[in-house]
Amino acid sequence: MLELHILGTSSSLPAQSREVSGSILETPNGIVVIDCGEGFQSRLAKHRKSLKAQNKKIKSSKISGILLTHGHLDHTWGLLPWLKSLALGGRQKSLFIAGPTSPQIIDALLDDNLIKTELSSVDLVNQYQMCWSFGAIKEELGFDVDWYLTDGERWVSYTSKQTHLFSEIPGPISKMQIQPILTSHSVPSCAWKISTPDRLGVFDREKAKNLPEETKKVLSSGEDVTYDDVKFLASDFRGPVRKGVSVIISGDTAEQSINASCDLLVHEATYLSSHQSLADQHLHSTAAGAARTAKKIGAKHLALTHYSARIDVVEALVHEANQIQEGTIACQDGDRLILDGEGELKHIPALVNQE
Ligand SMILES: [Zn+2]
Ligand SMILES: [Zn+2]
Repeated sequence: MLELHILGTSSSLPAQSREVSGSILETPNGIVVIDCGEGFQSRLAKHRKSLKAQNKKIKSSKISGILLTHGHLDHTWGLLPWLKSLALGGRQKSLFIAGPTSPQIIDALLDDNLIKTELSSVDLVNQYQMCWSFGAIKEELGFDVDWYLTDGERWVSYTSKQTHLFSEIPGPISKMQIQPILTSHSVPSCAWKISTPDRLGVFDREKAKNLPEETKKVLSSGEDVTYDDVKFLASDFRGPVRKGVSVIISGDTAEQSINASCDLLVHEATYLSSHQSLADQHLHSTAAGAARTAKKIGAKHLALTHYSARIDVVEALVHEANQIQEGTIACQDGDRLILDGEGELKHIPALVNQE
């Protein structure tokens, strides 16, 4: 099961009581934050309060990593204050931070030659360095932060002292099956795909009913067993493997840039179709464009977010998206999306959270 908490649905100009990007994803192997725009920590505090009414908790200590989709400030400007707050809260556990940059910058980092490379002002290399200069280092925070950059293929651990190259996602976060999917925006950008592992097929109790309890137990744990000189294969007592489920969360991107499949696609929908030219110009998507992306990759469910301040009512977005992908959801700040093990989606609107 994957549970996503959407803490902001506005594009860079907050309006209509919407705040900028930031989401929290609970997975069977820990919690990750995806994007961390301005005010992230206060939104998290507010959301926690509304969850409390339902006896639900998100513990900061369970958060293992932060995945940034790109360097625009509506997606990153809440990072530094939140790191400081985690330190004040006495965090000990290390934290993983990852985000995209260009292949040229990864090359330059590996050659120790960053100075000669042209950097966009908001490139995450610059933002990581800024965080360090403002004290986001172990000596001041009291916990380790592992800073990573990726170009979609390679992973580089980046610290002020050294860089290391990895071909796949390193460290304890690898259990979460996290994958960057490159997208198309005005700066290096990616969506993040997070999947749950495949599960064993259901144990067939009926088939094993004449075997002693102890033998059944061994078979149901997945091991073969010999009973009465007969060898029983655990695989004969299992139904087909149950595929894991997955979500892709886009940052800002032009439509149909994502090239990977998933059960749930959470996609930006900055504009209505009447502003298609603005979407093309700034490499953003319309609601219909998000739906075309969902259709192209075969996503079972589509949820929209990241709306321009021009959007008064989200129903207009849903209407346009539904022409292409039925059942589209337009998220609001504080909504929860729960994807169960069978790939079915439950949408819990923020209003319910606050009751
Ligand atoms: Zn944005
Ligand atoms: Zn952007």
